Amino acid sequence: MLPCLRYDVVRMNENELFQAALGLLPPWLVDRCTFEQAAGRLDLYLDFPRGSVFSCPVCQAAGCKAYDTDEMTWRHLNFFQHQTFLHARTPRVECVQCGIHRVSVPWARPGSGFTLLFEALVVMLAKSMPILAVARFVNEHDTLVWRIVTHYVDAARAKADHSAVTQVGVDETASRRGQTYVSLFVDLEQRHVLFATPGKDASTVAAFAADLKAHGGDPEAVTDVSADMSQAFFNGVAANLPKAVVTFDKFHVVSLVNDAVEKVRRIEQKTCPELVGSRYVWLKNPENLTERQWEKFDTLDIVNSHLKTARAYQIRLVFQDLYTQPPEEAESYLKRWYFWATHSRLQPIIDVARTIRRHQDGILRWFTSRINNGILEGINSLVQAAKAKARGYRSDRNLATVIYLIAGKLHLPSLPT
Ligand SMILES: [Zn+2]
Repeated sequence: MLPCLRYDVVRMNENELFQAALGLLPPWLVDRCTFEQAAGRLDLYLDFPRGSVFSCPVCQAAGCKAYDTDEMTWRHLNFFQHQTFLHARTPRVECVQCGIHRVSVPWARPGSGFTLLFEALVVMLAKSMPILAVARFVNEHDTLVWRIVTHYVDAARAKADHSAVTQVGVDETASRRGQTYVSLFVDLEQRHVLFATPGKDASTVAAFAADLKAHGGDPEAVTDVSADMSQAFFNGVAANLPKAVVTFDKFHVVSLVNDAVEKVRRIEQKTCPELVGSRYVWLKNPENLTERQWEKFDTLDIVNSHLKTARAYQIRLVFQDLYTQPPEEAESYLKRWYFWATHSRLQPIIDVARTIRRHQDGILRWFTSRINNGILEGINSLVQAAKAKARGYRSDRNLATVIYLIAGKLHLPSLPT
């Protein structure tokens, strides 16, 4: 907490004013400033009195004398609409213990050409704006903005504690027009992204397990994993999270049955033109239909119709009701459904019923674990929105950085309030 100081601006010269506004502490002071209106920039030249001493940046020992200095420049927050730069001859000090090292200046981190406050502004903007828009806004190249955001996200992730993780959801999101994938691992209890990594195979689970360990977690402590029915994830879990039981995510399972209904409809519409344009009617539950879709429903006369699509739709509705059954009846309910579906004479429905049968254990596991990827769907939609806005992620690594930034619940720097 800074002391609440009031300054009598009238009695101050501009150097003292900027010194106070920057919160500079001795030995640092503002030596002079120049303002070029045409160029729209303010330059503040910082200095320290001859004979000043500094702390050693390595061992923190006080009283080190300047050995030599270098001119360094940092971009700071704008002064009104004008770009502002700090300049300082920055000393290296000679410490009897550690030798010669560059001092750490209180307004910037080592190696950065921006002040801490400028970087905090960039990170704050990046949480709600695409990186390219941030770059335009602060008038810097987007690679510099990426560098800042990556630094703070990595630093915050390095400190993240994953020791309490027991329930994990995993899903993939397509990056760069679906050519490649980034897998997301989410803590289903704390509801944040633990790990994002390129790829979607068994090795991504291995990478997650290693990352979990690196953050104080224990792969053997993971009891439940929610995932889609991909064999790769399943194998990866078995190999790397040995105590975890897989629950197949119910949204994925229902969506497979939906896909089968759509296949039936697409075949049938060739001989039954009134089905054209009705795809989204069949994807919904009756209670969610719009008025327009109800009309379509009525024209198709669903209840009495002999449409194959209508039958497939009924089979889907009944499958979905599995999730409303009492746990002790779930297995026999699924069995009856399977019998009905496999005798439907609708090939896509028969196929999906067999898939479901093969994955029955993981589907019924839901009645014990009660976990699903609902939270991942929410995160995914944030990520999709970010992707839509930010053309040019440049790499899947950058996409992972943005995912951590918006969905990682990390402790990131912010501007003082
Ligand atoms: Zn030292």
